Order: sequence, then structure tokens, then C-alpha cells
Amino acid sequence: MESDDCLFCRIVRGDIPADVVAEGELWVAFRDIQPQAPVHVLIIPRRHVDSIGELKEGDASLAGELLIAAAEVARLEDVDESGYRVVTNVGERAGQSVFHLHVHVLGGRRMRWPPG
Ligand code: AMP
Repeated sequence: MESDDCLFCRIVRGDIPADVVAEGELWVAFRDIQPQAPVHVLIIPRRHVDSIGELKEGDASLAGELLIAAAEVARLEDVDESGYRVVTNVGERAGQSVFHLHVHVLGGRRMRWPPG
């Protein structure tokens, strides 16, 4: 999908409002509009990438930054000690509904395993 039509690219550009909790040079973190836990934040790269399935070798720093951002968000949201889950869905069958890479950070409640 081209970035003009992409919901999360529009959030990055500021065309659509979002409840931003943190930002980095390469990423933006904002609250999920339909939270599945007391803390539910999405971290997205500023650059359009469909999913982690599209990441190439040259994207190693971006991939790492997203995980470091997840830990930072967990600290900011005060779930770093109580525990949290970091998830990224790849493909419709795995539950991906927005095809701009995003990492979910979920916390504030007990998580079950395996996920549905
Ligand atoms: P996924 O199903 O893994 O692709 O996750 C997409 C997530 O984006 C879902 O949890 C949605 O609730 C969330 N979402 C969709 N639109 C928005 C929006 N405008 N602002 C914040 N979160 C959104």
C-alpha cells in the first residue's frame, strides 16, 4: 500500500490525530484506539514498511530501535516491573489489520498463553 493511503503513515504525518506517548528519530508510539489491556501502545516506524516480513538486512537498526522503544514505553507506562507483552502480527491470518509495521505493547493485566 502506498503511504498516501496508509492509516499509520497519516498518523506519522499528523493528518490523523493520535495519543502519542513517545517518539524517536525512527519511530512514533501512540495509544491503540481499541485497547486490549489497560496499557496498549503501538510503536510504528516513521517510514512505511508493511510488516516485519518486509525488513531487510539494512533495517537491523530500525528493528532494534523498535524493540528498545517497546522497553522504553513499558517503563513510561509503568508496566516494566509488572510485566508486559510485545507482539507484532504479520499477515491477515495472524491478525494483522493495518499493513504498516507496528509493535503492540500490552500490559497492566495478566496475559494468557497461548494467545488466541
Ligand atoms: P493489528 O490488528 O495487529 O494490525 O493492529 C492494528 C491496531 O491498530 C489495532 O489494535 C487497532 O485497534 C489499532 N488502530 C486502528 N486504527 C487506529 C487509530 N486511528 N489510532 C490508534 N490505533 C488504531
